[in-house]
Amino acid sequence: MAAMEVRVRYAPSPTGLQHIGGVRTALFNYLFARSMNGKFILRLEDTDRARSDESFVQNLYDTFAWLGFRWDEGPDTGGPSAPYVQSERSALYGKYAEELLARGEAYYCFCSAERLENVRKEREEARAKGGGASRESGYDRHCRGIPVEEGRRRAAAGESCTIRLKIPLGEDGGPGPATVFTDSLLGGIEWKNEDINPDPVLLKSDGFPTYHLANVVDDHLMGITHVLRAQEWLPSTPLHVILYRAFGWEHPVFCHLPMVMGQDGKKLSKRHGATSVDEFRRQGYLPEALINYVALLGASYEEGKDLYALEELSRRFSLEKLNKAPAVFDYKKLEWYNGQYIRMKSDEELAGLTLPHAVSAGLFGTPGAGPDACQRALYTAAMPLVRERLAFLHEAPEKLRYLFSEPEIPAAEEFFPKKADLGAAVKLLRLRREITARLAAGNDEEAEALVKAKAGQEAVKLGDLMMPLRVAVTGARVSPPLFGSLRLLGAERSLARIDRALAKLEGRDGAC
Ligand code: GLU
Ligand code: ZN
Repeated sequence: MAAMEVRVRYAPSPTGLQHIGGVRTALFNYLFARSMNGKFILRLEDTDRARSDESFVQNLYDTFAWLGFRWDEGPDTGGPSAPYVQSERSALYGKYAEELLARGEAYYCFCSAERLENVRKEREEARAKGGGASRESGYDRHCRGIPVEEGRRRAAAGESCTIRLKIPLGEDGGPGPATVFTDSLLGGIEWKNEDINPDPVLLKSDGFPTYHLANVVDDHLMGITHVLRAQEWLPSTPLHVILYRAFGWEHPVFCHLPMVMGQDGKKLSKRHGATSVDEFRRQGYLPEALINYVALLGASYEEGKDLYALEELSRRFSLEKLNKAPAVFDYKKLEWYNGQYIRMKSDEELAGLTLPHAVSAGLFGTPGAGPDACQRALYTAAMPLVRERLAFLHEAPEKLRYLFSEPEIPAAEEFFPKKADLGAAVKLLRLRREITARLAAGNDEEAEALVKAKAGQEAVKLGDLMMPLRVAVTGARVSPPLFGSLRLLGAERSLARIDRALAKLEGRDGAC
């Protein structure tokens, strides 16, 4: 018999922006599918009609288009299990709830919302006091004894009702059995049935399924072989296992992924920093960096190797590479990855990626104005000056502003090399003026050799010779490489800036 095809899914509820945790789940499912030559499916779990929103669906599509990995089957792709949106599958779930009723595994509940609320409160109070059947919270199984036929009649007569799952109980109707299953990462799990949500609702009074029913029915119908999901879903799994058994279906392999924590050991949340992919994107992260970093949250591939492209991860991934221990999200490490991926970009690519930031920062005139052909060429040519200095894409424009507009002339002291004064700065700047025209014309190595020679001749330190020039040309003591800047600005503009600076330092601009 041919080996069963691996089918995995990412099943988000569109009730919020895509965040790191979701992307990690999606990515691991994707990588697992690729590594097994299987299929990766996207399914929208929008059964919570009040909280689901179309804008979050759009955000999901935008996020994954940006990240650059895709599902093989999904709402926008189609496939053998279509539709892939739960709200478009509603009719189906009622049928399966019916089947459980027929099998004696479910029952009608006619309790009013008010009664349920009172029961919940009473049981909570009893639990707080530690008395009697106190370990159980939630529903009291009031309607469990109503025969299905009677329930069906009352429902048909229009009485409002839900359908609940019978969680198996002990002989005397009390607690007893436990639900046992294996998690491929965590090993054997044994969950006392009394600790499972007592007889959870499967079908709501409006006919919509709850998460549990829709999730299990769809995983079964879509032929899902492995469920890789965040560890916070582990408490739902015993209930799902009971559901599978109630249907007489085999359940998929479960693998609950390690939690993602902030550095304080608490679950990663907004308190720790950006968590939505949108935010990372706006902050100038590259998708490759985010993918590479997220792929390491709870998995290890090879000792001493950090950089992995998506394609390589797809080959290396396996469930054995997952860690049990929680993963710690380290923003600094992600920043490092970003710098690494920025360094791998060509001039053209990096210019293209940073250009939107430059346009909105007003690098080429008023904010929003795009570059003309000359500015675009200069911008691309300037990429080698900043590539090594960027941790984020949005940092490029500020670092290059001096190439596109005349920098303000800083205060005189800014021009002074260490321990030098105004006289020395002026002298040095004059010296530099002579050779600047030649510097701007040659290549960067020749320029450096020339300056070194000049410094030797004049018996001044190289750094001292460079500082006033750097300030005059770039407007700051710290800047991208000076020779490259001179070359890009050209002799004429460079000299004009030196003259402007000299004029100010020598007081000829009337400022002092
Ligand atoms: N809809 C659930 C979620 O929002 C899916 C959980 C699961 O993967 O079973 O994460
Ligand atoms: Zn009831």
